[in-house]
Amino acid sequence: MQCVAEPGREIPVLDEGDVLVAGGGVAGCAAAVSAARAGAKTMLLERNGCLGGVATASYMASIGNRYLIASGRRVIHGFAGEFVDRLVAAGAASPRWEHRDVPGCCFDSERLKVILIDWLAEAGAQVLTHALAARPIMEDGRVRGVFVESKSGRQAVLAKAVVDATGEADLAAQAGAETRMAGGTASILFKIANVDLDKFADFLLQDPDGFPAGMDTVKDAETFGRNWKQRGILFFPHGGGKSWRWLQQLGGLEDRVGAAFGLQALGMYAVAGPGTVVINSNFYRVHNLDVRKLSEFELHAQKMCYYVGEYLIRTVPGFSRGRIVSMGTDLGVRHGRVIVGRSTLKAKHIKDPPGPFLADDVIGVTPAQDTRRTGGEFYHDFTTDVPFGITVPTGPPNLLVASAKSVATVPAGIIRGMTGCMICGQAAGVASALAAQQGVPSADVPVPEIQVRLLSQGVYLGDEDRLKSLHLV
Ligand SMILES: Cc1cc2nc3c(=O)[nH]c(=O)nc-3n(C[C@H](O)[C@H](O)[C@H](O)COP(=O)(O)OP(=O)(O)OC[C@H]3O[C@@H](n4cnc5c(N)ncnc54)[C@H](O)[C@@H]3O)c2cc1C
Repeated sequence: MQCVAEPGREIPVLDEGDVLVAGGGVAGCAAAVSAARAGAKTMLLERNGCLGGVATASYMASIGNRYLIASGRRVIHGFAGEFVDRLVAAGAASPRWEHRDVPGCCFDSERLKVILIDWLAEAGAQVLTHALAARPIMEDGRVRGVFVESKSGRQAVLAKAVVDATGEADLAAQAGAETRMAGGTASILFKIANVDLDKFADFLLQDPDGFPAGMDTVKDAETFGRNWKQRGILFFPHGGGKSWRWLQQLGGLEDRVGAAFGLQALGMYAVAGPGTVVINSNFYRVHNLDVRKLSEFELHAQKMCYYVGEYLIRTVPGFSRGRIVSMGTDLGVRHGRVIVGRSTLKAKHIKDPPGPFLADDVIGVTPAQDTRRTGGEFYHDFTTDVPFGITVPTGPPNLLVASAKSVATVPAGIIRGMTGCMICGQAAGVASALAAQQGVPSADVPVPEIQVRLLSQGVYLGDEDRLKSLHLV
């Protein structure tokens, strides 16, 4: 490969703080708010012009309902709990989401942007937008800060502890952490306005056997109808598209065009009121982080939004007066590069474990999945601990990884839903704040101290007996 040398130069230092968070998706916002609340001078750098990442810039406007175990008891609190509570309080999500029949709490992604701005400001974290954390500044094997590229040019931000919330472990990899390319899929979601959602729902309910139950997480057509009519949540599973019988009968929609596949996999999410529905359709296989390939996918996906959207408007009852009003501005990557961590969360810990999976370094819990059943009873009545070790990469000791799509799990992405990202983000933020205060690397902060601080921020780490066994009460 042909190379050129980049001349060395002096770079002005823009700011210096305790904790620097690179990436302002839900994981980065959780990290920055939690670090600031733990008393750290915190700065968040976001390369886009808005906060929220996939949840806003890619329009993934539904948060997977991992809040509740099978009995309906809520086991996720802390930042992730406050996240859904703030959405409801702002009128951006249904107050009736908290039921095991609801697979995802759909929300207004524009409103989320503003909720996050206020939340970070309240916590006292500083935010820079259109600020790319371009490269870590290394000193004696530690990350001393990052070089930032923005309209102001190239500058440096220094910090005692750094959180990589880029979603693809970009900083961790550049700082020498061991990573692997796990290869997931990516999509751009889009919005159609002026849809008669009642008419669409009624049409679906006329043919309950055609409903793609068992392919995703809505139990059946009846549950779908109840969620919409009684709870104001329209969650239509994309289900791979395969069992959406009446759509197949309508015909005329290719399942693959060029690099896009799964075009007949039409997930739909809406909240009651505006008649706007978010469509989750095109899929692209991401095997590497090659800029040419990613650009090809991103631009192709924008065309596919129109291909699928115009098909819906032409053929599907309720959509005839619809208009495609916007597309996500960012290709949403489900997972790409992941770190090799101090510990690893495995599928067997999450999918049908014999009982609760316990880790001494627990930083949050997620309901254990019940893979023998589908629908609203997709979870067992017990939980799996999320361990701190999965956020700790090899290599730079003062850098933690916040995004659950790039932490150490096998297979990659098993806790990549928004709740998992916020759990890891909150712990990474708290641990980094403690590291900065104690003058130790983030990886070396005693775990009980992180857990005590997480408990004080409202995080659920287990019941009373469990907390006693961890000597936390
Ligand atoms: C198509 C799709 C469907 C999904 N469906 C669901 C679902 O139904 N329910 C659910 O709960 N979850 C779902 N997920 C998963 C979930 O949405 C994501 O895993 C989660 O939102 C990721 O949040 P994050 O903060 O970890 O990463 P991201 O949202 O990717 O945020 C990373 C942020 O970092 C910024 N950034 C990157 N590099 C830099 C840099 N060098 N400097 C500065 N900023 C940088 C990016 O601009 C972005 O804002 C889905 C994901 C996708 C892509």
